[in-house]
Amino acid sequence: MLYIDLKYAMLVQPLLKGAIRKSDYLFNFRCPLCGDSEKSKSKTRGYLYRKQNALFFRCHNCQVGTTLGKFLKMLDQRLYQEYLLERYRPDHQGHPPRKGKAVPTVLFEPLPRPSWTHAESCDRLEWAHPCLNYLRARQIPQAAWSRLWYAKDYKTFVQEVCPQNTLTVRAEPRLVIPYFSPDHEVLAISGRSFSKNAGTLRYVTFRVTPDDSVVLMFGRELVNPTKPVWIVEGPLDSLFLPNAVASGNANLLGCARALDAPTMTLVFDHERRNREIVQAMETAVREGYSLVIWPDTTKGKDLNEMILSGQTSEGILQILLSHTYQGLVARTTLAFWKKIRPLARLHNMFSPTPVS
Ligand SMILES: [Zn+2]
Repeated sequence: MLYIDLKYAMLVQPLLKGAIRKSDYLFNFRCPLCGDSEKSKSKTRGYLYRKQNALFFRCHNCQVGTTLGKFLKMLDQRLYQEYLLERYRPDHQGHPPRKGKAVPTVLFEPLPRPSWTHAESCDRLEWAHPCLNYLRARQIPQAAWSRLWYAKDYKTFVQEVCPQNTLTVRAEPRLVIPYFSPDHEVLAISGRSFSKNAGTLRYVTFRVTPDDSVVLMFGRELVNPTKPVWIVEGPLDSLFLPNAVASGNANLLGCARALDAPTMTLVFDHERRNREIVQAMETAVREGYSLVIWPDTTKGKDLNEMILSGQTSEGILQILLSHTYQGLVARTTLAFWKKIRPLARLHNMFSPTPVS
């Protein structure tokens, strides 16, 4: 009866302040029960979410959790009555209301999120916040904003998360990219600068885990290793692909070895002239991994640049799927790809706009 629940979630949505449909079966809004909260108008901690074949309500502020039906009852009696009639109509193969049967306990299983004092999750920032302007300018999908954080003062934030750190950190705003373990434990934090100043370090990363042998992978806690996994360099780039992790550097091989999923494809940045990357690609091929060898027409050096040049996520996925190589074919394609480098340059001299 999921479709009836979904229909009523959509009917109730206009009554909920700040409601956004985050994915097919996930709605986020200001909790109407607690006001969520008196102090801040930007908080949206109420959720309608799917659990098996039904939708449920949960608020992370007042901790109320209940069925969609009971939630509707608290908000709008008329809508609730309609819902009951439709949901439990006997001609539906659903279940009639069973008397005497207790409502099952709602177990909410959201992703555990760190409760940091000096950083705010990007999905909870005011719409006009400069950090969100930055994410919008880079066309980062809104569904991924909850995976990124904002620290107004990165120095204080680093002190909070890694009190053992002795390195100097500048007190400046940064976009926080957290690296988690499969169990959602924070392993590292990376702060990306908003500044275009050449003197500023773009990424300042700190390990939280004392275990140096742990390989950092952005998205590790969300990836399903039984499905095909994409391994990319940039954490922000990984947000454009399904089931992707990011190494945060050119060490995609380290991630692949640590992840050890049955189907993995390494997506190095599109940087033919970068010796380090080309060598890493050659090693990956020698070790038998699948990898993407970008076609000559590719515009942009990474996925985000490709998106900004007008490509869609679906378009990129198509390119990736049709340019994934392995084994002997990968070896010859890569060798050819390296060799045509001077030709490509010559080609660019005569036709500055590549024909696509
Ligand atoms: Zn509430």
